[in-house]
Amino acid sequence: RNDNVQSTVQVADPATRGAVEIPDSITVKELAELIGINSADVIRELIRSGIFATINQTIDRDTAALVTEELGFQVAEGGPAAADDEEAEAEKAPATKDDDIFAEPEPDKVVERAPIVTVMGHVDHGKTSLLDRIRETAVAEGERGGITQHIGASEATVNGRRIVFLDTPGHEAFTAMRARGAKVTDIAVLVVAADDGVMPQTIEAIDHAKAAGVPIVVALNKMDLPDGKPDRVKTELSERGVIIEEYGGETPLVPVSAKTGDGLDDLLETILLTSDANVEPRANPDRPGIGTVVEAELDRGRGPVATILVRTGTLEQGDAVVVGNTSGKARALEDSTGRRIKSAGPSSAAVLLGLSGVPEAGDILRVVESEKIGRNQVEQQLLAAEAKSDAQGHATLEDLYRQIQMGQTKELRIVLKSDVQGSLGAVVHALEQIQTEEVRFNFLLEGTGDITNNDINLAAASDAVVVGFNVRIGGTARQMAEAEGVEVRLYDIIYKLTEDMEAALAGMLEPEIVETVQGRAEVRQIFRVGKNQQIAGSYVTDGRIVRGGARIYRNGELIAADQIASVRRFKDDVREVTAGFECGIALAGFHDFEEFDVIESFTSETIARAATR
Ligand code: GDP
Repeated sequence: RNDNVQSTVQVADPATRGAVEIPDSITVKELAELIGINSADVIRELIRSGIFATINQTIDRDTAALVTEELGFQVAEGGPAAADDEEAEAEKAPATKDDDIFAEPEPDKVVERAPIVTVMGHVDHGKTSLLDRIRETAVAEGERGGITQHIGASEATVNGRRIVFLDTPGHEAFTAMRARGAKVTDIAVLVVAADDGVMPQTIEAIDHAKAAGVPIVVALNKMDLPDGKPDRVKTELSERGVIIEEYGGETPLVPVSAKTGDGLDDLLETILLTSDANVEPRANPDRPGIGTVVEAELDRGRGPVATILVRTGTLEQGDAVVVGNTSGKARALEDSTGRRIKSAGPSSAAVLLGLSGVPEAGDILRVVESEKIGRNQVEQQLLAAEAKSDAQGHATLEDLYRQIQMGQTKELRIVLKSDVQGSLGAVVHALEQIQTEEVRFNFLLEGTGDITNNDINLAAASDAVVVGFNVRIGGTARQMAEAEGVEVRLYDIIYKLTEDMEAALAGMLEPEIVETVQGRAEVRQIFRVGKNQQIAGSYVTDGRIVRGGARIYRNGELIAADQIASVRRFKDDVREVTAGFECGIALAGFHDFEEFDVIESFTSETIARAATR
C-alpha cells in the first residue's frame, strides 16, 4: 500500500522527451502512450480545451498536437513519418485541407512555377473577350498551328514566362472550387468596363477574392469606347476597399481593350509583377503530382476525361492516381492542342484519360504508389465521409466557441444578405455594437437580394455562417446549404438577429467548466479482466457513483484522473450506485488499482459566459 506513487503513473519529462511525431489521427490512449504519460492526464487536458473524449476515442492531429503542446511537450513539424509499407500507406487518411495538400515538405527543392489566374467581374464587362484574346495570342505565339481544344485552362507567355488562365471566368466557379477544398488561383484579374463601372457582381468578385486572400489586378476594359469614365471607376473601386496604386494603394490597374488588344501585354506583365511581389508561386517538380480538376466529363468514346491543373510535382503517363472520390491510372495525357504528352509539371494543364469515374471540378488529384492503393484510399475516404455526414461540415453558431478554444478562430465570419441597402447598413451596425474584444464579426460579403448558391459556396469555402435579413433562400441554395453543412439563419426582426449573435458570442467566450463531486467509493477487491484491465470491486461510502469523471486517491493523495467507463451491480450495468452498496467500477484508462484506493466520482458541466461589452 505504501508503494511509491510514481511507479503506478508513467512519467515522461518534457525536457528529455524529444519532439513527438503525431499521426493524422490517434486515440487518446495511443497519444498518451506516444508521449509517455498517463491517459488520464491527456483526458484532463482535453477537457480543459472543452473536448470530452473517452480513452478509446480518436482525435485528429490538430487536437492531439494542441494537447501535446499544452502538456509541455514539443510536436514534430509536419505530418507523420512516411510509411514505406504499402498497406500502411493505403490506410493513411489522405489530407483534405488545401494548405496541407499543396504544402512542400522539402522546401529546398521548390522552384518557381507559373501563376494561375482567374478572371472575374460583372456580366458583359468583357471577361470572355479578354480570355479569348489572350488565348489567340498564345496560339499565335506558340506557332503550333493546331486548333486549341477547350480544356478549361489556357496559357499565355510573356518574355518567356508562362501565365495560366482558368477558362471559366467569374467568381462562381472560383468559389465553387474553393468550397471543394481547392484554392487554385494565385491572382484574380478583376475586369471592370470603363463605361459601366463597379456593378453588383464586381463587388461580389471583390468580396470573393478578398475572402480567399488572393491579390487583385484590375483590368479596366473597353478603353476603346469614347464614353469611358476611368476616374469614376477608380473612385468606385476605392469605395469598395480596392485602392489602386495610383491612389496610394497596392492594387495595380491596367487600362485595356479586349476588342483592340491594347494594353494586353501590359496586363500580362503586371500579372507577373504581382505574382513576383505578392505570391511567388513555387513548387517541387520532382515529387509525385498533385493538382486540381478544372473540368471533367464523360466522353462516349474515351470514358471519363478530366483536365488536371498540376499544382506541384509531376503527373506522368502511367501514374496511379486518386482524384476526388474516384481513382485510376493515367492511361494517356494530352495538352490543349490534343497532342499526347508524357508528363505535366507544376502549373500546367493536362487532359487525363483512364479514371474509373468522372470527378468534379475542384477535386484534388494525387499520384499514389499503385492502383490498389488508390482504390483503397477512395474506399477509406467514402467510409470517412459517411461517418462524417452527420457531423457539421462547417461553422455553426453553436460550435464556434469550440473552435475558438482550439485557437482555430477568433472571428465569426458572416455572409450577410439583406433586402435593401439601408437595412444592410443597420444590421452591420447593430452587430458591430455587440462584438467583443475576443471575438469579432468578419463580414465576407454584404449584399442585397435573396440567398443564392453563390452565397452558400462562399460560406462553405470560408467556414462562414449565412445570415439573411428580410430575404429568402432559393430551393437549390437551401439544398446546397444542407449538403455542404452551411448554417443559414433568416431573420425579419433586427433584435432577434442580434440576440442570437450575442448568444453565439457568449458561447464563444471561454466557457467555464464546473465540476460537481457526486460521491466516493472505496476499493475492496480487484478483479482482472483480460490482460490489462481491472474492475474495482468497491463499496460506496458516500453520495453516489455515476458514469463521468473519476479521480483516484491513494493514502489521501491524488494519483490519477480518468473516466468511469462502467458501473455494475452484480452483472448489470447501472446508471448509479448509492452509498451503502457495493459495485464494480471500470475506468477507461486506469488499471493500476490497489485495495483501499478511493474513487471519487464527479460530473462536469460546461457553462457559457455572457457577452461583456
Ligand atoms: P463577359 O460577360 O464579362 O464575359 O463579357 P463578354 O466578353 O461576353 O463581352 C460582353 C460584350 O462586350 C460583348 O459584346 C463584347 O464584344 C463587348 N466587349 C468586350 N470587351 C470589349 C472592349 O474592350 N471594347 C468594346 N468596345 N467592347 C467589348
